[in-house]
Amino acid sequence: MKKFISLIIISLILLTGCGKKEEKNAVEKIKEKDVIVVGIKNDTKPFGFISKTTGKPAGFDVDVAKYIAKDILGEERKIRFVPVTSGNRIEAIMSGEVDMVIATMSVTPQRQYLIDFSEPYYIAGQTALVKEDSDIHTFSDLKRKKTIVVQGSTTEENIRRIIPTAKLVGYKTYKEAFEAFLSGKGDAISSDDTILSGFLIDHQGYRMLKHRISQEPYAIGIKKYDDKVLKNTLDQIVVRMKKDGTIKKLKQKWQLQ
Ligand code: GLU
Repeated sequence: MKKFISLIIISLILLTGCGKKEEKNAVEKIKEKDVIVVGIKNDTKPFGFISKTTGKPAGFDVDVAKYIAKDILGEERKIRFVPVTSGNRIEAIMSGEVDMVIATMSVTPQRQYLIDFSEPYYIAGQTALVKEDSDIHTFSDLKRKKTIVVQGSTTEENIRRIIPTAKLVGYKTYKEAFEAFLSGKGDAISSDDTILSGFLIDHQGYRMLKHRISQEPYAIGIKKYDDKVLKNTLDQIVVRMKKDGTIKKLKQKWQLQ
């Protein structure tokens, strides 16, 4: 009996001991897989879109992902991109479908309840786009107009804060939202200045309002891990990208300010 009990105790010690040793942190797990799964937009120029020349994901966020892959795995091509939308990206992080989301995603207190964010790597601001000859010049001119927004983005809440009765029309993706705007389904489309400027690269006859109604700090979204190893790693990478001039170069490359 004594033997039996000591055997059980030994196996328990071994089991729990081994269990602890095998508990890998998120960075170790990424290194073991040798690939980072990154949620990215495929319709949000110039941050995440499919390049017409290469047929592959391109943009500011894609370049940030490549820098991270090079840093953690030694090669920038060790990424598997998964397209996400503003409405499904938090779920993609929480379910473990992706290791991280780099997709024009602003840090907000509500989102911080659900996921962790790295240090911000870019600060955008929300504004609106109208036709060149439109009579809309300020956000208060939108009161009686129809404004197109993308669901799951910060846009809707920001507009409602200043115009509680705003008439908003929501779409799931930026592709759908811009198509709706082009076909006259709204008098304006509101989003981050970055995303609207991406639309202006390919379209003429539109103008952006001068005013910004919010600050949108873009950061990398990850699962809330207790050990924070992945968050600390990403924070360090973002700080380095700012210090070594990478962010500045990316702003020039993608014609942002
Ligand atoms: N940056 C804003 C957000 O995170 C709008 C852009 C987007 O939908 O990704 O919601």
